[in-house]
Amino acid sequence: MKAHDGMYIGGAWRPAAGTDTITVLSPADEQPVGEVPAGTVEDVDAAVRAAREAFPAWAATPPVERGALIGALRDQLVARKDEIAETVTAELGSPLPFSQMVHAGVPILVAGSYAELAATYAFEEKIGNSTVYMEPVGVVGAITPWNYPLHQIVNKVAPALAAGCTVVLKPAEDTPLTAQLFAEAAHEAGIPAGVFNLVTGLGPVAGQALAEHEGVDLVSFTGSTAVGKQIGATAGAAVKRVALELGGKSANVILPSADLTKAVKAGVANVMSNSGQTCSAWTRMLVDSARYDEAVALAAEAAAKYGSRIGPVVNAKQQARVRGYIDKGVEEGARVVAGGSEAPREQGYFVQPTVFADVTPQMTIAQEEIFGPVVSIIRYEDEDEALRIANGTVYGLAGAVWAADDAEAIAFARRMDTGQVDINGGSFNPLAPFGGYKQSGVGRELGPHGLTEYLQTKSLQF
Ligand code: NAP
Ligand code: MG
Repeated sequence: MKAHDGMYIGGAWRPAAGTDTITVLSPADEQPVGEVPAGTVEDVDAAVRAAREAFPAWAATPPVERGALIGALRDQLVARKDEIAETVTAELGSPLPFSQMVHAGVPILVAGSYAELAATYAFEEKIGNSTVYMEPVGVVGAITPWNYPLHQIVNKVAPALAAGCTVVLKPAEDTPLTAQLFAEAAHEAGIPAGVFNLVTGLGPVAGQALAEHEGVDLVSFTGSTAVGKQIGATAGAAVKRVALELGGKSANVILPSADLTKAVKAGVANVMSNSGQTCSAWTRMLVDSARYDEAVALAAEAAAKYGSRIGPVVNAKQQARVRGYIDKGVEEGARVVAGGSEAPREQGYFVQPTVFADVTPQMTIAQEEIFGPVVSIIRYEDEDEALRIANGTVYGLAGAVWAADDAEAIAFARRMDTGQVDINGGSFNPLAPFGGYKQSGVGRELGPHGLTEYLQTKSLQF
């Protein structure tokens, strides 16, 4: 794989301040696929300075022109679609067709949506005797995870640029090559020097330096709840804006009137895609007592069909973590009906597609984010109990409800403490706000709501 040995700062690839590097491994065969520099406090400082310097001119660029440049960036992503998919497959391990369709395809949609939104969003409104201007917050420090390497970057950078903010990105150490490709695309698109900057490196070094930098006005973080809490505390102490996209433990609620086969199959597919490494995955399947055994059999069959089609998880640590959760489930009395903790292959960070039955709501596997291909099926007696279980975690990111008609599903969904719910298999909408209730986060991404995160208001009275 292609790799740059520098940082993209102020419109050019520059040598890193230090000499440490990060070796990127293929999760499928554990072989090196590239090497990037490990950024230091000095690299972060240089990038933040470049972003600060570029901010006034970019903020003053008419939104229509910013939109045109984001459109050019989108076109550059289209031109690199195959290279992006191959790079994500190399560093994340996802099967190539999934990388093409989702990892490369979805960011193109999202970038396109912000090219349009920049041009059409109302950056000015009248309220009584006031004119309210929506102005960019300033320099954004974006810290992203590896699970959807390009999507997580575009989710932050595209709305930030549309708003008139400038950005310093610290991508995940496991997937920096995709981030470098994004920087190339931004460069080729003609995004002005300093408007977008990239510093590769480790979270506790480069990530922390970025979150703490006094030249950063807004920190946008996606990743684990543990790190998110720390970043929230740091930003709070400095009175900085912060957006946090954290974990989830979402419920797939199958009501008694629903088409069981359809709901179970969709639920298993939802968790297995990307090897379960999706924050919004419906990892808890809730089924009524009367149809519980039938659902378990259907889910076991659906999971077994994945066999070796499923990709690995991202690294050895995640593999050990996920296998540890499977062991914990067994220890606490849940019943494995498909898969198990044994590694399915000698090489690569693979985990078997696993289904647990007899899971009770308080078990560790029903409460904590596993981030692997593991579904827990939980029994409920009536709708009130289903709701209590669905809402009974610290998280509230996503979910699904299935019923014979939409009205019944909507009534249930309105009672769920969660940010996004798919009704009877509703499809992905790149404009719908995405983000969490409770400890799943602060703020929203995507569409106009995602753009608002990067704006602050100024009102003039007449
Ligand atoms: P993580 O450590 O929270 O990683 C997210 C990003 O934050 C990465 O860029 C990371 O850098 C950076 N980071 C780490 N420590 C930091 C610090 N002290 N200050 C600033 N930035 C820091 O997540 P992870 O370790 O990769 O995954 C652990 C668990 O988090 C997963 O098992 C899963 O449960 C959850 N997770 C959730 C999401 C989501 O979309 N909500 C995504 C990924 C993971 P490094 O890459 O160098 O660590
Ligand atoms: Mg980490």
